[in-house]
Amino acid sequence: MTRPKILVVGGGFAGVECLHRLERALRPAEAELTLVTPTDYQLYLPLLPHVAAGVLTPQSVAVSLRRRLRRTRIVPGGANGVDTAARSVEVHTTAGTTVHLPYDHLVLAAGSTTRTFDIPGLAEHALGMKTLAQAAYLRDHVISQLDLAAVATDEAERAARMRFVVVGGGYAGVETAACLQRLTAAATARFPRLDPGLLEWHLVDLAPKLLPELGDRLGAKAMETLRRRGVRFSLNTSVRAVTPESVTLTDGRVLPTRTLVWTAGVAAGPLVGTLDGPTVRGRLRTTAELTVPGSPGVFAVGDAAAVPDLAVGGDAITPPTAQHAQRQGKAVARNLVARLRGAPLRPYHHRDLGLVVDLGGTDAVSKPLGVELSGVPAQLVARGYHVMALPTLTARARVLTNWALNATTGDDFVRTGFQEGRPATLQDFERVGARPAGPDAGRPGSAPDTPRPDPA
Ligand SMILES: Cc1cc2nc3c(=O)[nH]c(=O)nc-3n(C[C@H](O)[C@H](O)[C@H](O)COP(=O)(O)OP(=O)(O)OC[C@H]3O[C@@H](n4cnc5c(N)ncnc54)[C@H](O)[C@@H]3O)c2cc1C
Repeated sequence: MTRPKILVVGGGFAGVECLHRLERALRPAEAELTLVTPTDYQLYLPLLPHVAAGVLTPQSVAVSLRRRLRRTRIVPGGANGVDTAARSVEVHTTAGTTVHLPYDHLVLAAGSTTRTFDIPGLAEHALGMKTLAQAAYLRDHVISQLDLAAVATDEAERAARMRFVVVGGGYAGVETAACLQRLTAAATARFPRLDPGLLEWHLVDLAPKLLPELGDRLGAKAMETLRRRGVRFSLNTSVRAVTPESVTLTDGRVLPTRTLVWTAGVAAGPLVGTLDGPTVRGRLRTTAELTVPGSPGVFAVGDAAAVPDLAVGGDAITPPTAQHAQRQGKAVARNLVARLRGAPLRPYHHRDLGLVVDLGGTDAVSKPLGVELSGVPAQLVARGYHVMALPTLTARARVLTNWALNATTGDDFVRTGFQEGRPATLQDFERVGARPAGPDAGRPGSAPDTPRPDPA
């Protein structure tokens, strides 16, 4: 007898948690488990800024799938499209071939990509912070600017190379700016030719406040901490144009710089557009049971999905966080088991546990279970949370060891050069499968779709 086929697309927080639970809950005879993923690791994204700052090695945040999943078939590649009528997923493998994988039950857990806007020069010149390669590239790029500034004979060039612009006042942008600012400030001690006074970090956001998820007080506290360290803020401001040597802001200022880091939000990847379901801000709308209406056998979870937030109520959907993605992975596994065994599905319900924001060193703000913390207590909570949330003991040991090494021996300023000369746009790094990443990418083998109207 053939076993029902469960196919999971995306090996991130949601997808891996789902398969890990299914392996434990189902007997091998009950279902065939397959994962489509471009990498053989689960990336612990919340610690990517530490990789960019060189506090952690890339390996520390890349959790081996082979350690967590013992009997899932792992297909290396990216899903290009879903044919819900034929119950099949088109996959572009890392070998460059195209295969069609049939499914009885499909879990879409392909996460998100960096959200961009139609700003001249942005797609060509902005750097992102969403993949391991981007974090490693950014680190090399920042250190390279210091190396070049140290030998620049033109003062304007030296100042431009020592000026860094980060766009996005959410946790990704704030942590990236904070960790890299700390790295560059420490670097000036090892670069005697560099004037520390020339170092400039700018954080730009269209919103009037930083870290709105944490509330007014902690957002202001984070700002005060970073301002003390020399970070300049441009709120209620966005970017009008980008060139290789400057960023023009919407308030008219032109900042000569060689570095723009773009972390202004996320959008679901192009795969979502190949289903006919309704979307909310580009995420696939699901029921509270995580099923996709109108697509039999399909579930969606994590950043790719717009899941009703029953803990908040009304029209609220769960925010795109690792906390929700992981728990939705667990919930969808429970519902898949229920479906296989003819039991009723249960709705997803999770009350947010809060957020931690690591500003580097002993600086942090966090709000565990509604309690507002800053400084050392917040940092202890932040680091403790990450250690507990890392999925394997090996990953925890690697992270703890690297933190201890960094705390005792300080920063190093080494460019690996592995990615030198390679194209480095957001799309180059975030492309999965045969098609480019980005919300406007179309179906496989056809002209790009006209984006469907978003009901939100
Ligand atoms: C810098 C940064 C800091 C963050 N900090 C925090 C934090 O402190 N707390 C928090 O809760 N959240 C944080 N987040 C957000 C959190 O990381 C995401 O919400 C979470 O990763 C979403 O989980 P997911 O499983 O939906 O997607 P992901 O974990 O992104 O996994 C998606 C997977 O799908 C793969 N994939 C994509 N497209 C395809 C395709 N077509 N076919 C096959 N596979 C595909 C990807 O390669 C990836 O492996 C942070 C994010 C960033 C970028």
